[in-house]
Amino acid sequence: MLKMPAGFASLGDKTPYNWRYETTPQKHCNDRRMYWPRGKTLGGSSSINAMLYVRGNASDYDHWRQLGNQGWSYDDVLRYFRRPSATSAAPTSSTATRDRSPFPTRPTRTS
Ligand SMILES: Cc1cc2nc3c(=O)[nH]c(=O)nc-3n(C[C@H](O)[C@H](O)[C@H](O)COP(=O)(O)OP(=O)(O)OC[C@H]3O[C@@H](n4cnc5c(N)ncnc54)[C@H](O)[C@@H]3O)c2cc1C
Repeated sequence: MLKMPAGFASLGDKTPYNWRYETTPQKHCNDRRMYWPRGKTLGGSSSINAMLYVRGNASDYDHWRQLGNQGWSYDDVLRYFRRPSATSAAPTSSTATRDRSPFPTRPTRTS
């Protein structure tokens, strides 16, 4: 179930692979504590995540670039977001998708 996209959810509350943390009481949520699942196994939360892919928010990346992080503007990272869509049209398994990472080991500039 750890290897199947969204499979972790089917393990329910009894799984040993979850630290099952709670936040401190949240002032803006009526002082409720929030359930905070975290991976308790090799690979951490990446091993229990749903393997859903979401493109990041442009303003976050541009802000990180403004703070001095070269190569992190949205224009810089957009091609990395686009590359999986072009190369993973028909993944046969989650493992195959992971093994074909679109990211180079070091950032490269092509333009
Ligand atoms: C249920 C779930 C679903 C998710 N789904 C998605 C998704 O679909 N797509 C997506 O992009 N992201 C998803 N995420 C988020 C993503 O998995 C995490 O943001 C990412 O894995 C965090 O990586 P990290 O290295 O910062 O932390 P982690 O991978 O959590 O690494 C922290 C490490 O510290 C260890 N640790 C924690 N507490 C202790 C302790 N007290 N003592 C010793 N070791 C400890 C943990 O076991 C773990 O190995 C999901 C997360 C969860 C929990």
